[in-house]
Amino acid sequence: MQTMALAALTLSAGSYAVIATAADAGTAKPRILVLATGGTIASTGDARSAIGYNAGGVTGEQLMASVPGLDKLANIKAEQISNIGSQDMNSKVWYQLAARIKQAFDRNEADGVVITHGTDTMEETAFFLDNVLATRQPVVLVGSMRPSTAVSADGPGNLYEAVEVAASAQSGNRGVLIVMNDTIHGPRWVTKTHTTSVQTFGNPNGGPLGYVDPASVRYLTPAPAARKPPLSVPNGGLPRVDIVYAHADMDATQIDDALRHNAKGIVLAGVGDGNASKAALDALASAAKQGVVVVRSSRVGSGFVNRNVEVSDDKTGFVVSYDLNPQKARVLTQLLIGNGVNSADKVQKAFDATY
Ligand code: ASP
Repeated sequence: MQTMALAALTLSAGSYAVIATAADAGTAKPRILVLATGGTIASTGDARSAIGYNAGGVTGEQLMASVPGLDKLANIKAEQISNIGSQDMNSKVWYQLAARIKQAFDRNEADGVVITHGTDTMEETAFFLDNVLATRQPVVLVGSMRPSTAVSADGPGNLYEAVEVAASAQSGNRGVLIVMNDTIHGPRWVTKTHTTSVQTFGNPNGGPLGYVDPASVRYLTPAPAARKPPLSVPNGGLPRVDIVYAHADMDATQIDDALRHNAKGIVLAGVGDGNASKAALDALASAAKQGVVVVRSSRVGSGFVNRNVEVSDDKTGFVVSYDLNPQKARVLTQLLIGNGVNSADKVQKAFDATY
């Protein structure tokens, strides 16, 4: 009965490539290193609901034990890096993650890495790691929208699928991935789009890179032939880069405040195609003249911010972020300044070259 159902499934898959995992194929199991950082996926609530919980609390080992069948997919080793809600995620944890992942692959300790993480800033961690890791092995971030005690908790299923993706040979050379709710996303395009729904991660300018279900990992395109060269993790830590959020009736207060706090860069979460009031743009232009890196992004959530459309970037010395949202534009600006890339034209080239 089961065999017939499987055959039917295979036939109905038509021209799609159904890629078996190593576990399915009966070959040696891949070694997956799980790095736990906290988040809702590691939380318990008082009641069996999604309301009233603190992100973090359950350890990586406990998380693994809660997912039946994981041991059949891979040989898993879990390590605890932090146990925080990702609203508290910070560059110290990013540095620890980057160093541990590099070490694990350099020492041939793992074939893939899964990072359990809160969903709020998951895209920023994924994007940071993607920019600093040269790895061709899969690195997958995963989280959940509901605590482990909620009715229909989504964590165990997401974790199972994240391990499946990290264990798949098809996932190599694709950069750092996010797996949530049966979808696989790339670090540049993915963003959290819904405050509570389990279907929260999306790519507003396109779709996911692929799909995963308990039987298969499917990518919609081949892995890119080459990946961009990684940036170094800056020795002295990441410089301060502030995001200023544009709105009606905007004055220059946020920009003055960023300068007072010695920001080396400012990212504008602009209205429309990265615009802001005259007062804000004048203050940003004067900041750029003083050597502060000013990057125009948009609060809209989809589309591109292009050069010299409504705002003259050539005249003001601004940089545009294209499709990078403000939070990711901030991470790239921090990494660039930390690597000694400060001039507007060089920063712009780096934003151009991040595909
Ligand atoms: N605040 C939580 C976090 O980002 C939310 C979640 O994980 O979904 O850690």
